[in-house]
Amino acid sequence: MGEWSDYFEDFPEENPANWVNGKFDPQLRKQLNSEAAQQAVANLEVRQLITNAKRERKAKALFATGDCPQCGERQLNSYKISETFYLCECQECGIYGAGATHDEALAKTADSIGEGLDWHDGSLY
Ligand SMILES: [Zn+2]
Repeated sequence: MGEWSDYFEDFPEENPANWVNGKFDPQLRKQLNSEAAQQAVANLEVRQLITNAKRERKAKALFATGDCPQCGERQLNSYKISETFYLCECQECGIYGAGATHDEALAKTADSIGEGLDWHDGSLY
């Protein structure tokens, strides 16, 4: 255990992790790693904020629940995300469709029967 880390402690220039763009610079490497970690956390937080905001907006945009053309369950939610963006998603089987009008979104959903779509894998909104 620890053989390589002991070795790299004695010979830091041998550690490939201490090199930045062909230059030996353990300080810069350490700083870059720290910045990359902070950026990753920030990105994650932003993604979470966006996801939460979309979930909230979607909940408010829900205006109808009807029969799903694929599974038949009364689980087909219709959302009016904007004036020209309607979205239908079945809470049961996952089929979905979108359009500029509610009728178009319903038609797109019905056209997708059997295609194996599942909005849980990546919603259009
Ligand atoms: Zn369904």
